[in-house]
Amino acid sequence: MTEPLLRVRIRAEQDVFLVRQLGREVAKAVGMEGQDQTRIATAISEVGRVMLATGRDADVAFIASANQIPTLWVEMKNPVSRDDGRLGLDLAQVGRLVDTMEVGDGITGTVVRMSRRLPTSAPQLTPERMNQIRDGLAAHVPGTPLDELAVQNQQLIAALDEVRAQRDDLARLNAELQETNRGVMALYHQLSDELEETNRGVVALYAELDEKSVQLRTASEAKSRFLANVSHELRAPVTAIIGLGRLLSDESSDPLSAEQSRQIELIRGSATTLLSLVNDLLDLAKAEAGRIEPAWSEVDLKAVFGQLRGTLRPLATRPEVAFTVEEPAVPRMVTDEVLLAQVLRNLLTNALKFTAEGHVTLTVREVGSDVEFTVTDTGTGIPAELHERIFEEFYQVPGSQALSGKGTGLGLPYARRLVGILGGALRVDSSPGAGSTFTVSLPARPS
Ligand code: ADP
Repeated sequence: MTEPLLRVRIRAEQDVFLVRQLGREVAKAVGMEGQDQTRIATAISEVGRVMLATGRDADVAFIASANQIPTLWVEMKNPVSRDDGRLGLDLAQVGRLVDTMEVGDGITGTVVRMSRRLPTSAPQLTPERMNQIRDGLAAHVPGTPLDELAVQNQQLIAALDEVRAQRDDLARLNAELQETNRGVMALYHQLSDELEETNRGVVALYAELDEKSVQLRTASEAKSRFLANVSHELRAPVTAIIGLGRLLSDESSDPLSAEQSRQIELIRGSATTLLSLVNDLLDLAKAEAGRIEPAWSEVDLKAVFGQLRGTLRPLATRPEVAFTVEEPAVPRMVTDEVLLAQVLRNLLTNALKFTAEGHVTLTVREVGSDVEFTVTDTGTGIPAELHERIFEEFYQVPGSQALSGKGTGLGLPYARRLVGILGGALRVDSSPGAGSTFTVSLPARPS
């Protein structure tokens, strides 16, 4: 600890006035401002008063520390030990005037250490500056208790003025706050009116939307019903035409001329195409009307793949195309076997139809709790902007030429419906020239 700036002893009541005065002088000398000078001076005189009441002298030391945080310390000692813990209570109020206050109350007597930081504006406490302060304080001529009383009065008046100014400030702030509150309330009301209006609009919009979706559903149901009825009605006559054609060209019937045979074949060909269109339409209408109920069961994928390999092999006639149905990496899953086989057959038939060379491959793998089937081909591919359109009824990519058989444009919409019924999704990834990959994701165990 550095050498104190000043030591003083309090022996009698007038010394309390003196030490108060000196306290203010020291505070001023180390660079404290007016209010802080008064605070420290008041704290010292209070502690001095309490110590003097014991009937014994008190020693006061003023120490300035120039460490990282320049601080003024005041150490006050009194040889009387009160040792009842009451000293701390007596001085509790005084502690509020300084930054830190420690009260040591033991057998050797009482020590009170107080500190207050110096403002940043205070001049630096170099050793020379400290010596200057010591000299200045030594030369200080103390005033009489009356002088000190006058100074105290001045300080009291200043403090009162400040309290009054603070009270006025508070009143002004309160008025401003009230004004702001009124503004906020007005804004709030306006906002809640606007919100109510907007909500009303949204509710009306939703009602309209609901109505439209009901209309849409009704229209779609009517369409499905119409398709189902028409195709059902068409099936019987078309089947009859095919049968009659077969009868006419039968060897046991009357012989036909070559031209007649050719025309009968044309009729049979057209009728067969028509029948497959009618059948596709009927399937799709049934799926759309929600009349297909999946029959869930534990399905052996090895068996399904084996069957697909067998039934589609005859379609894969081109030697330039390697047709592979891989051994399934997932042995079994819960789904509807017939619907699953129908979807995969549909995708594989398409792939074979649109692939002139390269390969057509079916694989399956597990992805999380899903089973993912992929049909990959190196065929013509489909432009990105048509990836959704090919799932629309009757849509066929303009200029796309099937290498075998004529399509109806109903295969993919039907496949997507079925996958939906099985709780999964069907998507395509393709680009012209690079081939296509159709992916069917199905839950391995539908809930
Ligand atoms: P379809 O095959 O009976 O014409 P789909 O609904 O199955 O009807 O397919 C719609 C159209 O999508 C096809 O006409 C074809 O243009 C295109 N397409 C489908 N699969 C493929 C494929 N693997 N490669 C190229 N184009 C395809």
